[in-house]
Amino acid sequence: MLDVEKIRADFPILSREVNGKPLVYLDNGASAQKPSVVIDAVTRGYAEEYANVHRGLHYLSNLATDKYEAVRGKVAQFLNAAHEDHIVFNTGTTMGINMIAYSWAMPRMQAGDEIVLSVMEHHANIVPWHFLRERLGVVLKWVETDATGALDPQKVIDAIGPKTKLVAITQVSNVLGTKVDVKTITSAAHEKDVPVLVDGSQAAVHMPVDVQDIGCDFYAITGHKLYGPSGSGAIYIKPERMAEMRPFLGGGDMINEVGRDVITYNTPPMKFEAGTPGIVQTIGLGAALDYLMDIGMDKIAAHEDALCAYASERLTGLNWLNVQGHAPGKAAIFSMTMSGGAHPHDISTILDKRGIAVRAGHHCAQPLMAHMGVSATARASFAMYNTKDEVDALVDGLELCNKLLG
Ligand code: PLP
Repeated sequence: MLDVEKIRADFPILSREVNGKPLVYLDNGASAQKPSVVIDAVTRGYAEEYANVHRGLHYLSNLATDKYEAVRGKVAQFLNAAHEDHIVFNTGTTMGINMIAYSWAMPRMQAGDEIVLSVMEHHANIVPWHFLRERLGVVLKWVETDATGALDPQKVIDAIGPKTKLVAITQVSNVLGTKVDVKTITSAAHEKDVPVLVDGSQAAVHMPVDVQDIGCDFYAITGHKLYGPSGSGAIYIKPERMAEMRPFLGGGDMINEVGRDVITYNTPPMKFEAGTPGIVQTIGLGAALDYLMDIGMDKIAAHEDALCAYASERLTGLNWLNVQGHAPGKAAIFSMTMSGGAHPHDISTILDKRGIAVRAGHHCAQPLMAHMGVSATARASFAMYNTKDEVDALVDGLELCNKLLG
């Protein structure tokens, strides 16, 4: 069992007050707080171990390079990738998916080709494909969730036609918490020779991930949601797909030799890492992954599942509150509206006065908002350090919202 009090003690910010009340941080879907091991790794990275990485011949450059490159293996271990060379560093999922759109998809797609998406994708897994729609005439095929917010994998599989060139799908919705059976989708897509990109930004935080078991071609993660620094991230890319990719950004370590009329590239994965990278951010991500792997993602998942069940029970007990999404086995992410039509921004502001941090808005998922018939929700998203007492604090705060706004 997870020792939540011990974990909370690792996160300095959790002991502060906000608006005179103990902080109840329920905005983890947007970004998670950082444990001391990450803060220390970042501080040490700048205070004692900083220099630019790769090609340096001095002590600090070699030290920073070793620390930075060691993180590739940690990401591979965290995602159970077969080799660290299957990992490309970046600044987060947005960067990762944009890179795949430019490096892999753009050179091999043409007008009329199709990309299958679910309606609950984050804009980071929509906008890069819109670019291809606008620039190449690629068609986006949308698969809808059912009334509970569940996504039937068969509906995704049925949407794959002879012109489909890619399925791009999230493993966990950042709005509904719905978990998607990406393994079933991937194996059916592969039978039709269609690669699959999984947006793992939310999933990798809440559950163990095994990219070899899923079998997907691309799996994107973002460091700041994984208790690591913002500006860190990585994408797993199957070697066959990596071999098909053209570099998207040019400069820095992605080259081998540059002449006036010729250029040769570094070998992958560095072929896809242009310019000075987020050195210390990536080292901080390594510290976060070590921390998570020490605790065990299965233990984190079990704690969050119990929290999710408790929060579901308490929130659905409020008959003036609409919780969007009840898919079985969902992650602990709750998007809410109030029957009286109170604006989610007002809900968030009232909760904030009680030290409770939630997010209000469209959560970068406007197609899903349109599908649900709402323009915004208030979202409480839980992490490994949250407790049942914090669920109770949220419910008390929502009751106050109902009194004031209902
Ligand atoms: N995909 C999902 C499901 C997300 O929740 C987010 C962030 O909220 C992203 C992608 C984008 O991540 P980032 O902004 O870190 O690149």
